[in-house]
Amino acid sequence: MDHQGTIIRPPNEAGSILLQVAVGCAHGACTFCGAYHGHPYRPKDAATVAADVDLAARRHQDRRRVFLCGGDALALPVARLLDVLALVRARLPWVTRVGAYASARSLGARDDAELRALRRAGLATVYMGLESGDDAVLARVRKGADSAFIVAQGRRARAAGLRLSVTVLLGLAGEAGAQAHARATGAALTALEPEHIGALTLVLVPGTPLFADAAAGRFVLPGPSAMLAELRTLLEHTSPPRGLFLADHASNHLPLRVRLPGGKAGALARIDAALAGRVPLRRQRGL
Ligand code: SF4
Repeated sequence: MDHQGTIIRPPNEAGSILLQVAVGCAHGACTFCGAYHGHPYRPKDAATVAADVDLAARRHQDRRRVFLCGGDALALPVARLLDVLALVRARLPWVTRVGAYASARSLGARDDAELRALRRAGLATVYMGLESGDDAVLARVRKGADSAFIVAQGRRARAAGLRLSVTVLLGLAGEAGAQAHARATGAALTALEPEHIGALTLVLVPGTPLFADAAAGRFVLPGPSAMLAELRTLLEHTSPPRGLFLADHASNHLPLRVRLPGGKAGALARIDAALAGRVPLRRQRGL
């Protein structure tokens, strides 16, 4: 496959055909993100993507899922996305699910009919970064959208029949704003009602503005116990009618996999036990 720059995919797309449709991220401004440094955004040309689909047709007949790689694949023109989805359907008929990253801004640039057309063409899951429900935090990290806008766009995606997976970042408000960030983020997740929530722990990446802020003392990353207290508040305030809440990424100190709403009480008890020192915390791995 023709993979240029950085290829990033959600953990549960590990077994998917990684079909890169864009290099870099169309937004590219979040102060904590070093994911695509050195690789400015550009859509891949149609011929290269088509050649990759042909290659997948020969090599990956055992894979049932495709992930459209690119920091914000939904930023591509709808006509291009529909062409790619049509190609996947025609050449990889055994594929049952297509997923992609989608920012609230790119979802907001599509009308409801376009979102439904993408769903009908085979797009099944969109992965959207909320990061925080606290507007002051979102503005500080230059997310490019406020909480109400992100919630509205996620709900539009769901109304169009798309499965919604949302990531949030523990530690993003620093020490001082941690609890307010956790409460507001839980409220936003409750309003979003995503099928899947991924709570990651912020890792400061050299070369990013937030890393420079931390080095200069303008930002203080909470320690493991404070992160855990933040996770507790976040989970406590996250009450969608159903969904899976995962905090089991390598960046997290206490791996959690919670089926909401039934598993919440047990998960909160486990966090309390960890805060009391009865469950050992894990060192961050593989970052
Ligand atoms: S939208 Fe996502 S990939 Fe793009 S800069 Fe922000 S965090 Fe990074």
